[in-house]
Amino acid sequence: MTTIVLNLQRVRERITTACVAAGRDPACVRLLAVSKTFGADAVMEALLAGQRAFGENYIAEGVEKILLLRAWQAGQGAQSGEQSGAAANALEWHCIGPVQSNKTRLVAEHFDWVQSVDRLKIAQRLSEQRPPHLPPLQICLQVNVDGGVNKSGLTPADVQALAQEVTQLPRLALRGLMAIPEPAINFIAACALHKRVKAIFDHINSSGVLPVPMDTLSLGMTADLEAAIHAGSTMVRVGTAIFGGRSRATG
Ligand SMILES: *Cc1c(COP(=O)(O)O)cnc(C)c1O
Repeated sequence: MTTIVLNLQRVRERITTACVAAGRDPACVRLLAVSKTFGADAVMEALLAGQRAFGENYIAEGVEKILLLRAWQAGQGAQSGEQSGAAANALEWHCIGPVQSNKTRLVAEHFDWVQSVDRLKIAQRLSEQRPPHLPPLQICLQVNVDGGVNKSGLTPADVQALAQEVTQLPRLALRGLMAIPEPAINFIAACALHKRVKAIFDHINSSGVLPVPMDTLSLGMTADLEAAIHAGSTMVRVGTAIFGGRSRATG
């Protein structure tokens, strides 16, 4: 087995163990493999090991990988005589990095999800630019839950208003909230931060202001996925524990 395959197995075990410890069904937590800075070959290895959802931070880098993997899958489909469309559908790409206005078209044309929406203007452009032949773009709003100065995201007080506005946009489907809490000193402190996001999520869902309740709480990375799962995460975004350390600085 390759390192990536072994690492994936270990991460899935961590998720299962954390779910059991929290009294949750492991099937309720999805794994997003964060492949930023790693090549299409690394994505392919993870894909062959059954991983389907991948996260990218940098738009140009992500789109390049998406196109490479699509071409590869189409070739595979042609070889085995199956419908290439079915094979291409197997992969799910999540944009988890900041999206500037001049990048919205690329994102709308190539990604399946955007988890880092924090402004109406960006949401509007994504909706307008989503090609008609594709399903609606799946959206999470990014919440800056602890006021970290180096990251984007809505302040907790602004989340509900944008959530309502996004549900009005025809080519977007609001799925949930995403946050990147600052590193905490221990498990309890990490849980407390994640629970703040869970509380915002529950509050909006129970207030009945959305036509459809949100179903995705994207919380937890390599260092804090156990705390995030304890707090109610339904999607953990894991890079380092699957693909290894990154040499390049990341956003
Ligand atoms: C890089 C990144 C991750 C993965 O972080 P690791 O610590 O490598 O698991 C998750 N979410 C976001 C938004 C990221 O930028």
